[in-house]
Amino acid sequence: MKVRDLMQAIFRASAPAFPDAGSCDVLHAGDPEAEVRAIAVCFMADMGVLRKAAEIGANLVITHEPTFFSSREDTSWLRGNPVYELKKKFIEENGITVWRFHDHMHAARPDLIYAGWERLLGWESYARSGGHARLYRLPETTVAELCEAFKRKLGMPCVRLIGDPGMKCRDIGVLVGGGSLGLGDELMPAKTMAEESLDVLVCGEIVEWTTCAFVRDAAFLGLNKAMIILGHNRTEECGMQYLPEWLSPLVGDIPVEHISSGEPVSYI
Ligand SMILES: [Zn+2]
Repeated sequence: MKVRDLMQAIFRASAPAFPDAGSCDVLHAGDPEAEVRAIAVCFMADMGVLRKAAEIGANLVITHEPTFFSSREDTSWLRGNPVYELKKKFIEENGITVWRFHDHMHAARPDLIYAGWERLLGWESYARSGGHARLYRLPETTVAELCEAFKRKLGMPCVRLIGDPGMKCRDIGVLVGGGSLGLGDELMPAKTMAEESLDVLVCGEIVEWTTCAFVRDAAFLGLNKAMIILGHNRTEECGMQYLPEWLSPLVGDIPVEHISSGEPVSYI
């Protein structure tokens, strides 16, 4: 199977109605005519992931996020920059094709990133319908217990919290990745918390002076609101972890392996 054929099969199986124009699901490097020998899937094709992909002989890397540091892969400013040149050389020398699978993943129903999130956390039966955020009604728990569950399941040494760890909670909203930035509507995350009467918002990226400030003031005032900040990588990688299983009917006996990008920051 050629890279091009696999891309088309994935488009058809995920979100066939999603418009090609304007999609960021494009090749970042390599050859659409290459025969796929083995596939590595990852949250982001960083150098750590690419080295492991080369080690296991994967010649197609499917990444959820950009390879060269911007949403539209604008590399014009990077010519001659060693970060770009060395990474590009590594990709070429190892015969790797890198393809982004992002917009179609989110446009699929269910959204394949949230499908992986629910599977990892065992939250499938707690989902309730919602608007911008994915909403869950959990058996009553505490914020501290939720934080511990995230640390355990997502492999995090610590999580960031706004609010009282002892607070009881049931109604949770989740905005994975950059959804919590409220791009295009900065009020959306806090409004969702208010309108849906959420106890806790679990999120990826943050803006400290919008939603964080709203939740912090709620906590100062003794209201039942908290926010758990897990970051973009940790909230979305679970979707890529689920992808080998989702891909299996499409790829036949071509091996598919998830390679973790790991935590993007260290804590010192
Ligand atoms: Zn995403």
